[in-house]
Amino acid sequence: MSYDDNNIFAKILRQEIPCNKIYEDDFVLSFYDINPQKKIHALVIPKGKYVNLDDFILNATPDEIVGLLKGINIVAKKLGISSDVGKGYRALANISDHGGQEVPHLHFHLFGGERVGKMVE
Ligand code: AMP
Repeated sequence: MSYDDNNIFAKILRQEIPCNKIYEDDFVLSFYDINPQKKIHALVIPKGKYVNLDDFILNATPDEIVGLLKGINIVAKKLGISSDVGKGYRALANISDHGGQEVPHLHFHLFGGERVGKMVE
């Protein structure tokens, strides 16, 4: 799994291209998906260079792993969709070819603001 420094999310992290930012801390950056599939569609990405969830699980530090998971909840809360302040949401990570991953930098999609619907088409 070699990381492509030219993927679009790497460029967003380097601020070479803009994003519609929701939240940022030492471990994560979150921004709105450019092509929303639900009323609320956010992305949460780790700041480290990880191709996908498997790469992250195998190679990330414990602090990075906690940072990403906490980041998902912080963003969901900020958007008013976490189960403690809102009505819930779906967190989804596409992984590699059969998972339908298009951008080779790990990202979680957060879908919410309405019923998300069927899990798999
Ligand atoms: P995936 O298929 O899981 O790799 O999802 C990639 C997602 O990135 C898609 O939902 C795209 O709409 C989204 N996307 C691609 N380019 C951008 C961008 N510049 N800013 C925000 N979202 C993007």
